[in-house]
Amino acid sequence: MSVKVTMLGCGNSSGVPAVGNYWGDCDPKEPKNQRTRCCLAVQSDATTIIIDTGADFRHQMNTFDINNLDAVFYTHQHSDHCHGIDDLRPFYFRHDRTQLKCYGKKSVLEEIEGRFHYLFSGGSHKDLYPPVLEAHPFDEKDYCTPQSFADITYTPFKMDHGTCTSIGYRFGDLSYCVDMKSLDDKALDVIKGSKIWIVDGAGYHDAENAVHADLQALYEYNKYIKAERVYVTSLSTMMDYDTLINELPDGFYPAYDGLQFVDIL
Ligand SMILES: [Zn+2]
Repeated sequence: MSVKVTMLGCGNSSGVPAVGNYWGDCDPKEPKNQRTRCCLAVQSDATTIIIDTGADFRHQMNTFDINNLDAVFYTHQHSDHCHGIDDLRPFYFRHDRTQLKCYGKKSVLEEIEGRFHYLFSGGSHKDLYPPVLEAHPFDEKDYCTPQSFADITYTPFKMDHGTCTSIGYRFGDLSYCVDMKSLDDKALDVIKGSKIWIVDGAGYHDAENAVHADLQALYEYNKYIKAERVYVTSLSTMMDYDTLINELPDGFYPAYDGLQFVDIL
């Protein structure tokens, strides 16, 4: 079976340029420095899964012409990963009023549901504003265990994001770790052997960053994981594409919006 993965967005919480056309150290003339907030699409011929729905979600789906959606997997509850959630509503109406399934850590889904209760429980006029989303929290036994959604297999695993626990996902030979400060042995064992590893490196040169991994940490982790290609994502205005290309070691690359991988299962 053919499965395609597309990076719809690789920017950190502010995106690049940040509001006010702030490019920081990024060259505005380099198109790969145009970064929307982190989002990933995993698609088979029959099924489309999206990881996270940040503020750029609608724009990303339209830009990459993804017109169907079967489920959303959330990494965590930070606003840059979920505040485009209202744009899931049209899929409910287009799918004969079938509630769209949202997967994630129990506490994460509860927090998102608290902020956007009308999407999960319906608004005060349920005939006009019906519940359009359905929460599917992972059980503890689900972590680090391969499972399926329709024809796509995946393995969720917990990660340390400094102030909260986030969820990483492995799909076949590809693992996705956003947002992440550090990985424990259980997570490393799930990721180990992935050919492609897409990973948060927003800490850049700052090992003291409270919530994001720095590049040096990724180099150390990959000595164990041994991914053939590591794509650094969650890129900030301090992380210029060409500068990264020149400073990253062999096998490490900066991500960019639209980066695509095919046949990863
Ligand atoms: Zn975060």
